[in-house]
Amino acid sequence: MKTIRIIAFMGMISAVAASCGRVSTSENETPWIVDRFDDIKVIRYEVPGFDRLPLQEKELVYYLSEAAKCGRDILFDQNFKYNLAVRRTLETIYEHYVGDRSAAEWTALEKYLKKVWFANGIHHHYSNDKFVPEFTEEYFRTVASSIPDERFGELNDLFETVCDAIFAPSLYPTRLNQAAGEDLLVTSSSNYYEGVTQAEAERFYAAVAAADAGNPEPVSYGLNSQLVKDAKTGRIYERTWKLGGMYSPAIERIVYWLKKAAAVAAEPQKTNIEALISYYETGDLKEFDRYNIGWVKDTVSNVDFVNGFIEDYGDPMGRKASWEANVNFMDKEACHRTEVISENAQWFEDHSPVAPEYRKAKVKGVSAKVITVAMLGGDCYPATPIGINLPNADWIRKEYGSKSVTIDNITYAYDKAAQGNGFTEEFVLRADDRERMDKYGKLADDLHTDLHECLGHGSGQLAQGVKGGELKSYGSTLEEARADLFGLYYLGDPKMVELGLVPSFDVAKAGYARYIMNGLMTQLARIEPGKQVEESHMRNRKLIAEWCYERGAADKVIEWVEQDGKRYVVVNDFERLRALFGELLHEVQRIKSEGDYEAGKALVEQYAVQVDPALHAEVRERYYALGIEPYGGFVNPEFEPVVEDGRIADVKIVYPADYVAQMLDYSKNYSFLPNVN
Ligand code: ZN
Repeated sequence: MKTIRIIAFMGMISAVAASCGRVSTSENETPWIVDRFDDIKVIRYEVPGFDRLPLQEKELVYYLSEAAKCGRDILFDQNFKYNLAVRRTLETIYEHYVGDRSAAEWTALEKYLKKVWFANGIHHHYSNDKFVPEFTEEYFRTVASSIPDERFGELNDLFETVCDAIFAPSLYPTRLNQAAGEDLLVTSSSNYYEGVTQAEAERFYAAVAAADAGNPEPVSYGLNSQLVKDAKTGRIYERTWKLGGMYSPAIERIVYWLKKAAAVAAEPQKTNIEALISYYETGDLKEFDRYNIGWVKDTVSNVDFVNGFIEDYGDPMGRKASWEANVNFMDKEACHRTEVISENAQWFEDHSPVAPEYRKAKVKGVSAKVITVAMLGGDCYPATPIGINLPNADWIRKEYGSKSVTIDNITYAYDKAAQGNGFTEEFVLRADDRERMDKYGKLADDLHTDLHECLGHGSGQLAQGVKGGELKSYGSTLEEARADLFGLYYLGDPKMVELGLVPSFDVAKAGYARYIMNGLMTQLARIEPGKQVEESHMRNRKLIAEWCYERGAADKVIEWVEQDGKRYVVVNDFERLRALFGELLHEVQRIKSEGDYEAGKALVEQYAVQVDPALHAEVRERYYALGIEPYGGFVNPEFEPVVEDGRIADVKIVYPADYVAQMLDYSKNYSFLPNVN
């Protein structure tokens, strides 16, 4: 569960969660991509609907956003104990160097700093490997020594440490080592443990758990602290992240803004924010649970947020949580779409092209919640998840459930940023297909995902005596195919227009052309040379596309076209293709309902696995020639209160488009921790 992380790929997003969208949004002239370096693109996102929020909610968003920015230093320090010293040394050089700023080595230094900002440290945010600088240590020392010592202040004492951190390849090579058999704490450079071996940490928390054995409501032991061994006495103890504890200067600022937020919030949110403040003040994890329970039960507040030590991906032992923040409000327009789909769940089930005995007599759709993000902070910035599923404590999830939302304005910005990256020009042959994809691609994707998630998986029923699980290793591919086919079939149904969800069949045409092209061809770019298709979502797409290609081959429903030595996939007959989706859905549902393992196996093995090596090589070559950065992150908007007669009369939103300026601003105005903590 947990937050849903994605990597933008193929110039489109491979989201793994339900996602809703709007047909259009207010757009200004600024490009969506504001910076690009190395394997990164930085995108701006818009916050549609903010201007229409009532003043009280605008004010709440503003205060929570300030709180979201105040913990940035915490994450830098959590990722590696000298990250703040490295960042500040680089920033001092960046701001005060008066030498040649056009030299290749300067450009390399600037790029390195941009990467450190993006990763919140010297290790890659995704691979966790230490960055390799493309400038020499000698150059770095020369540049630094040209700047007066007083500019560096206390950083002077850490200069050798900073040089080691940046340049010594054998030191701190990875932030997170998960190789079994090694001491994961000693070999990981994250700062969650200090001087403690893995065995010592395991013993420490085993004792904590034993002392609490039988408690049906256990707190998340160790979540909000560093575990330290006193070098002299050998005593092992926790340094708790709280007011007066570790990271106190940043937490003080977070609490300051949370108090302002609590003052304008309505119940039950007010009480929840106060519980969160109490947790920050005391470090008491019971208070964190109290906050989480209140948060998960609150389904009425329009403005919502995450602020705290939440996800444990960065700790090799999966215990200690990185600091993150996110401020958002409900996207009512997009939620409307999943509600409409859900309300009509029975109609879709009754009209499904599967055998009547395998339709559900009574079906209930799931309605996905969609939010608009207004501020990203900590481990959600600049790289961010596109969905949130919290809280993480198992007993709270079991007892009170969880909140699951998808973030629409972020996927929208990803999609916008992907337009014009050359992908569709390279792989889509016909101009009318390209136009439809530009215009309706995201809506088609979103709607297809909604149908897949809200209805597809829940549709259908098993024959008497069939338990499920009969399809074994082919089960997940066939299940994804079933949900995808349900979505594809209904995406082109006149009912979609009737319900007001799409303007015309053109939306389905955009979705179908993209789906088939991806399944037959472009998704191969993600597969390493020499490998077959293994991942179940990819297998499912290939299965559907190949099966429909073969079934429609005589009438050229789908056609391979070669032009100027390049291969393209085109759909010639969208209506027939839709009928083929229906036929395959009928068969896949039968296979599932009857637990027909042999038929399922045959389908997958025949259509979903084997890669044509020549096509594979061609797709990879054409894709990688486009130079599309695989990772994306975001610059935040800024909120400016309009003060009249000593009180906030309005909050304006502005969209900066300068990554470097935002990073320098945050480092100047939202940086509260000492160099070493
Ligand atoms: Zn699925």
